[in-house]
Amino acid sequence: MKKENVVAKKKFGQNFLKDESVLSKIVEAMPKNDHKIVEIGPGLGDLTKFLVDVKSVEAFEVDTDLCKLLQDNFEEEIATKRLHLHCGDVLQAWQSTLVDEPYDLVANLPYYIATNIILKALADPMCKNILVMVQLEVAEKFCASSGEKVFGSLGIIAQSVGETRIVVKVPPTAFDPQPKVDSAVFLIQKKRDRSDKAFEDMLRVAFTQPRKTLMKNLSCKYEKSILQGAFNELELTLTIRPHQLDTKDYHQLYKLIK
Ligand code: SAM
Repeated sequence: MKKENVVAKKKFGQNFLKDESVLSKIVEAMPKNDHKIVEIGPGLGDLTKFLVDVKSVEAFEVDTDLCKLLQDNFEEEIATKRLHLHCGDVLQAWQSTLVDEPYDLVANLPYYIATNIILKALADPMCKNILVMVQLEVAEKFCASSGEKVFGSLGIIAQSVGETRIVVKVPPTAFDPQPKVDSAVFLIQKKRDRSDKAFEDMLRVAFTQPRKTLMKNLSCKYEKSILQGAFNELELTLTIRPHQLDTKDYHQLYKLIK
């Protein structure tokens, strides 16, 4: 099959990035180091072409038609081991690590599983940096600061691990077919491993009803007297809302109530 004849499959979240200026911005934003690159969903290989020019790449593609096309179009890179192509579902291939050496994840992710992939990459000790295109709304959640309306557990989990920033916002016209939503490329530079599960469980409870008070949300899981003691010690008012605390506050609160 030729690249021109490929019909995008909705079920695999296929929106191919066609704007070369965005592809260049992704490559420019890549942290400078000697890590391997992991690309999830190389698709037609437009980003892959840029990536193999800079580093060696491990790519995971679920669509068998696209896998055949990539095998043909990257014959030389595969033969010289510049590109290692895994054909199959990345989520099934992912055990505690995805590859057994330090890597940076660089990808235009399939949006239907993007959050799940990012959380797995944050927990993967071999993954050192994450530079991905996702739906703008998802990027904003991961990069949100305390006080912003979209600040929630994803932002706190990401900031607990490292530094986050939006690299570039991308309109639907950059893709073929065009998605219905705006997109963005964002970067997480990991400095630490992902926080423990119990901390993240507390965050989920804290943001169950984001417009209610933090005290009300947490009371569903934790004893009120313990919460009151912790709020007192941290000088938090009983009416404070979950998005008004920052990441450091949440870690202190967790230490006092766990
Ligand atoms: N990287 C290409 C680009 O920028 O044009 C394609 C990006 S497209 C948004 C997402 C890609 O992820 C598609 O090629 C799709 O087939 C692939 N994909 C979807 N689900 C996947 C999965 N579970 N494992 C591996 N690849 C997957």
